[in-house]
Amino acid sequence: MIFIAKDAAEDERLALAAADARERDVRRTFHKATGAVVDGTNREELSAAVLASSETLVERAVPWDIFSEKLFEINFVLTAAASAGIGLANDISRGRKRIRALTDLAPVTQRAVGIVERQGFEAVKGIADESRAAVRTILKNGIVTGAHVTEIADNLTAAIGLNARQAATLAAYQRALMDEGVGAVRRILLVGKRARKMLRERADTIARTEVMTAINAGKTEVWNELVDTGAITATEAERVWLTASDERVCTICGPAHGQRRPLGVPFSVGGMMLMYPSAHPSCRCTVVLRLKTE
Ligand SMILES: [Zn+2]
Repeated sequence: MIFIAKDAAEDERLALAAADARERDVRRTFHKATGAVVDGTNREELSAAVLASSETLVERAVPWDIFSEKLFEINFVLTAAASAGIGLANDISRGRKRIRALTDLAPVTQRAVGIVERQGFEAVKGIADESRAAVRTILKNGIVTGAHVTEIADNLTAAIGLNARQAATLAAYQRALMDEGVGAVRRILLVGKRARKMLRERADTIARTEVMTAINAGKTEVWNELVDTGAITATEAERVWLTASDERVCTICGPAHGQRRPLGVPFSVGGMMLMYPSAHPSCRCTVVLRLKTE
């Protein structure tokens, strides 16, 4: 018997609303970080590095330390997101007095910080590493196609903040424009426009994925503690994986909708063993707790 089937839908709605509220801050932090790197890049040094065809010199011309430093602020946003997840976990246990008393007393923020320390740093590192890889991809392509040094330097700065796949798309787009005989000035304009669009997309993806992960981690943390402290037993509760249940649900998560697991046992989603969503970039899934009646 399921205790709170109705609340599960409510929890899903609340999780998505909590994510919406935090995503803007992650997006803004990401754009500020990429902007700071572009502003801090020495164009003359970058052009010289392109002329020398040196990945190492290109790396040095781009101030990646600023990028990591500015991206670090994402951790603060994610801490807030994890706190929101903990709040949601409390909300869903409303009506169960013994649980509520326990979670209300919990040092929520401290726990959220712990979650983000374990996971947030990896997220920031991943973003920085992928962005560096994107810049290298653009450099290699620029050299192969024989584009002008200024154009390659422009493309490199446009690629800061993109992921490797986006950089490859951008490079292919630039090559296509060259093949069509589009002049250098117009190429720089078009490539820059396309890069800005992709940068917006990446910021959206990072925001949605990292915020949802932090929220789901926060919820999971509370449920584990409820078991550890004996407030609930592992047998009276189960966790359920919920997709956003609309037409945009992907093939990875679609089959996982409604999957149930005891506390502490990972879900099986798209061939991966996951304690909680996200299962992939832009995953909109959430995890809820269901308490069975005795
Ligand atoms: Zn998903």
